[in-house]
Amino acid sequence: MRDWNLTATSLKKVGHARRILSFAADGRAICRLPPAMSELLLPLAYMAPLAVVLLLYVYRWRTREARAAATLRRAVKSGLTEPPSLHPVINLDICVGSGACTRACPEGTLGIVQGKAHMVNPTVCIGHGACAAACPVEAIKLVFGTERRGVDIPHVKPNFETNVAGIYIAGELGGMGLIRNAAEQGRQAIESIAHNRAQQGQLDVVIVGAGPAGFSATLAAMQHKLRFVTLEQENSMGGCVYHYPRNKIVATHPVTLPLVGKVRLGEITKENLLAFWQGIIGKVSVPITFGERLDAIVPVDRGFVVKTERNEYHCRSLLLAIGRRGSPRKLGVPGEELPKVVYRLIDPEQYRGKRVLVVGGGNAAIETAIAIAAEPGSHVTLSYRNEAFNRVTERNRELLKEAEGAGQLTLALCTTVKLIDERQVVLDRDGKATAMDNDAVIVCVGGVLPTPMLKKIGIAVETKFGTA
Ligand SMILES: Cc1cc2nc3c(=O)[nH]c(=O)nc-3n(C[C@H](O)[C@H](O)[C@H](O)COP(=O)(O)OP(=O)(O)OC[C@H]3O[C@@H](n4cnc5c(N)ncnc54)[C@H](O)[C@@H]3O)c2cc1C
Ligand code: SF4
Repeated sequence: MRDWNLTATSLKKVGHARRILSFAADGRAICRLPPAMSELLLPLAYMAPLAVVLLLYVYRWRTREARAAATLRRAVKSGLTEPPSLHPVINLDICVGSGACTRACPEGTLGIVQGKAHMVNPTVCIGHGACAAACPVEAIKLVFGTERRGVDIPHVKPNFETNVAGIYIAGELGGMGLIRNAAEQGRQAIESIAHNRAQQGQLDVVIVGAGPAGFSATLAAMQHKLRFVTLEQENSMGGCVYHYPRNKIVATHPVTLPLVGKVRLGEITKENLLAFWQGIIGKVSVPITFGERLDAIVPVDRGFVVKTERNEYHCRSLLLAIGRRGSPRKLGVPGEELPKVVYRLIDPEQYRGKRVLVVGGGNAAIETAIAIAAEPGSHVTLSYRNEAFNRVTERNRELLKEAEGAGQLTLALCTTVKLIDERQVVLDRDGKATAMDNDAVIVCVGGVLPTPMLKKIGIAVETKFGTA
């Protein structure tokens, strides 16, 4: 028998401690095993916790891989495989599967599948490149578009002027996404525009869009005491941010806002960020014309005429800060101008107890219909012109079925909207009209992208198919 100078606690870790140990009066453990076995016991005692840690690590790794593979399968099955704009491309020959990119990505776009990083949920990528910055072996580069889906990027000079003298582009429309970048560009574009003052009877600049780029540009225009208007097609400011999901955590880098100074918000909810901007609007009386959409730009001698549904503005320069989402596509039916017709769901609660028609067949339409159907007392009719929903997620299909089964939602496939009035809507199916009582209409039939308008006024645009 061998007398080891060990405490019982450390040996108990290998199990069966009672059978192989006895304890001396001073509390020391005495090993009863034959010497050869007891020689092995000490290394085993130390290896066991290591083995447990290793097993846990492998288990977690495999669970994450399985989850990522399942997400990828769902995306492929739903046809949601194309990232919207700027996105990472991973060189699988270089990738070592460290997982640094998946941890850095706040949107859940990336996952490790078979030991390598992949875009498992491509449609949610917002292109801020945190993944590329985190990759330890530089296996990731950021590109616009894919082989199948081109992305139009206008040519913009370092001072943000396009090839059409006097027309400037800032923010996501120019290919540079993210709140901080858009805000910085809006400010810098106005600094360039401020050198080019208007003639009599002209505005110095018309700023189009009140997202981060247009908002910052508006503050800069105030700071430089320019004569300007800012037009925003929606009735709210914030651009893309206004349409983030409720309570989304927004990660922003510090940014310098004209008239405000350096702003460090870090991680903040969408609602608090919007409230912060609203606070600035209140404090410095930022003049933004809401609910007015730019429809056409006509070049004239030393300037432009900017046309909206309501007005014409004569200006020396024009700053397009209109993002990439475009304007909502309209149905073009009688009654569409009624205030009960909107193009985006803001808050499902406002439709509680109401009869709502949702028009469209994509994920946006289905998510809108499901959200409203869940409100007590509401009933939703989902009108779609085709006979089946393509390119929607499996989860949305399931939720749609559940809502339909619960009687909260009626599917009206192969229908189009014929007419909207104060109290009813009329749907057409194969030439047969059906009228139904209705309190609200939400149209989710996609958007009209800004590119055709840019091309029409001669702005050079390059379509990128997976290039930087
Ligand atoms: C889901 C999601 C999550 C994101 N999360 C983050 C994040 O956490 N952090 C981050 O930094 N970035 C994030 N982004 C990206 C960021 O929101 C955008 O890059 C940024 O909003 C771009 O700002 P912008 O001003 O260029 O364009 P937008 O925000 O798109 O604003 C453009 C504005 O122009 C208006 N407009 C368009 N056409 C017209 C017209 N014809 N007439 C008048 N007005 C018009 C629009 O209504 C809109 O208000 C996210 C994006 C998405 C989609
Ligand atoms: S670019 Fe941003 S959102 Fe897209 S995968 Fe990389 S970290 Fe995620």
